[in-house]
Amino acid sequence: MHFLAAPGLRFDLLRLALLVISLSSAAPSSHAVPLQTAPPTPQDIAQPASVTPTQNSTTTYHLSPEKYQKAIAYSRAGYRLYFLSVLWNLAVILFLLRSGFIAKLRDFAESRTRGHSLQAVLFVPALFVPLGLLHLPINLYWHHLSLYYQQSIQPWGSWFWDWAKAELLEIALALLVVTLLFALIRSKPRSWWLFAWLGAIPLSLFLGLIAPWYVDPLFNKFRPLQETQPQLVQSIALLSRRAGIPIPPERMFLMEASAKTNAINAYVTGLGASKRIVIWDTSIRRTRPEELLFIVGHEMGHYVLGHVAKGFAYFLALLFFALFLAYRALDWMLARRGSAWGIRGQSDWAALGALLLVLNVMSFSGEPIGNAFSRMQEHAADAYGLQLIQGLFPDPNEVAAHSFQVLGEEDLDDPNPPKFIVFWLYSHPPLNDRLQFAHNFPHPPK
Ligand SMILES: [Zn+2]
Repeated sequence: MHFLAAPGLRFDLLRLALLVISLSSAAPSSHAVPLQTAPPTPQDIAQPASVTPTQNSTTTYHLSPEKYQKAIAYSRAGYRLYFLSVLWNLAVILFLLRSGFIAKLRDFAESRTRGHSLQAVLFVPALFVPLGLLHLPINLYWHHLSLYYQQSIQPWGSWFWDWAKAELLEIALALLVVTLLFALIRSKPRSWWLFAWLGAIPLSLFLGLIAPWYVDPLFNKFRPLQETQPQLVQSIALLSRRAGIPIPPERMFLMEASAKTNAINAYVTGLGASKRIVIWDTSIRRTRPEELLFIVGHEMGHYVLGHVAKGFAYFLALLFFALFLAYRALDWMLARRGSAWGIRGQSDWAALGALLLVLNVMSFSGEPIGNAFSRMQEHAADAYGLQLIQGLFPDPNEVAAHSFQVLGEEDLDDPNPPKFIVFWLYSHPPLNDRLQFAHNFPHPPK
């Protein structure tokens, strides 16, 4: 949950989520509460920090005609690509099942060794590597779009290296999860889904804990915020005292996003000892200090209102039903198609193909359920951030409204998203709604 939804990121998370039952998206790292974008840093701000945003107040999210066209084209291309990728994934898995490819992989793994763990070591990468390669055209096109619309500035070589690292991680995680899952299916043919759910709890907590330490640094550079932005850290400390939740400076990081992107954003991530606020350096360059503080206030809202814990509980509740449904759907599917696809039963490695099909469908159908919850939290965090900055600046509502405007312009946020898209895909309320909410936020009684 970044302050603004980050489309490129979402594809990766989504995919990981599909493939590896639960691990990814919901639980850990995405509890990461998004920060909005951007704040300013005192020192590299060209304009004096005291300047009031604009002569006119910001009442709606508006773009110049040229930017408007671009934002519409970019976001629509992203929506189309998302739905295309969902269909494409289903088609690919179906093809691999119907052609007997997955059953042949199973035969190959079983012919080489009798040990289940070794079979998994042969079978899982042999399935996931082709899946990754078949998904590559979608990733390539997405990166092409991001470059074309000047959101990304990441060279292709570096992009490929990131892609390869993500694939390797995904395969390693899939190997672990699939090995454990199939051991469960073999020993508890009727209740494996329940034990899988129980196992997902510590696993997701663990991943949430270690992701900021060991996963995120594989893709971006992080430095303590204190190192380059001591003044910003001080302002945040002030704000966090105001909120009554002091955040130690060692929990604040700067992400060197400018190496790869022009977009601005910020977020909260990690669990327990790894919990932290991360601010993209691009945000610091392009927003005013007051705007940055509003964004941080929004993030503090996620903390204070317990969004991380609530989001986690919500995810686990959904996962409980999802795993039960997956168990039933798998049963149903194998009864109908199992022999045609050469699958002997749920405990057959080849059943993983059918399970991936089911999980893809469920993950897609679950989007609106997860996003509705997320939009609620984001709205609450906006209200909290607005509340927090009341009295801090002469016109706090304008500061917040203007920060949305800046974020939208820089990130080419869709100025006019179709209702269906908001319902299905938006993890945040549409930007214009957020901006107007800020503009009309009631001032506290004097
Ligand atoms: Zn947020």
